[in-house]
Amino acid sequence: MPYKNKLYKDLGIKDFYHSKPINRIIKSDKEVIKSELDLCDSLDELKRLVEIFDGCDLKKSAQNTVFADGNPNAKIMFIGEAPGANEDEQGIPFCGQSGKLLDNIIAAIGLSRKTNAYITNTIFWRPPANRKPTDEEINLCRPFVKKHIAIINPKLIILVGSTAVESLLEINTPITKLRGKYFDYTNEYLDGKTIRTTAIFHPSYLLRQPTHKKTMWFDLLKIKSDFDHL
Ligand code: URA
Repeated sequence: MPYKNKLYKDLGIKDFYHSKPINRIIKSDKEVIKSELDLCDSLDELKRLVEIFDGCDLKKSAQNTVFADGNPNAKIMFIGEAPGANEDEQGIPFCGQSGKLLDNIIAAIGLSRKTNAYITNTIFWRPPANRKPTDEEINLCRPFVKKHIAIINPKLIILVGSTAVESLLEINTPITKLRGKYFDYTNEYLDGKTIRTTAIFHPSYLLRQPTHKKTMWFDLLKIKSDFDHL
């Protein structure tokens, strides 16, 4: 930069910095959450971090944060899309009509959410009018879901519907192509470990398209036999 005036030249000052000073101490909200998530190693702490997170606008219109239900020591973890009206009202995932069907699906594998299954969602707050969550909302919630998986550390993950697939496998392949297939899921919190993962139709899709219940039945038989060998 050329000298602005003689005084600077006489003082030997050559460089001028006009940009705002960088605050190297105060971290952005995102960085704070990331570092707290990195350190988090309990379900209560994760729940607290989700509840205090203000980065997702869905929280503003929601009545409750919907975190999880079931047995945290379960070998099987079901991950759905997002809370609906009933879930928002009660703060419990899958407690409405599609939840009843999910309970029947879980019962078909010989399990129940009360004793040996764990249920959560890709998104913790109800999207207005039950619209599909946006990519941005999925991206904002993903780090919490990844940590959730690492803390529960299940033997088998069941992705319930396409939003859970998009969030965790980061692909847009339709469930019709993925169902019945198994994947080795991992993320940065799993320290190189992989977890057997599959995807099923979302119960609300089955309520709209009951002809697919037969396909679901085949998928459940496979999941049951897989689960029995875990
Ligand atoms: N659908 C979901 O995906 N999750 C719920 O909790 C309720 C309905």
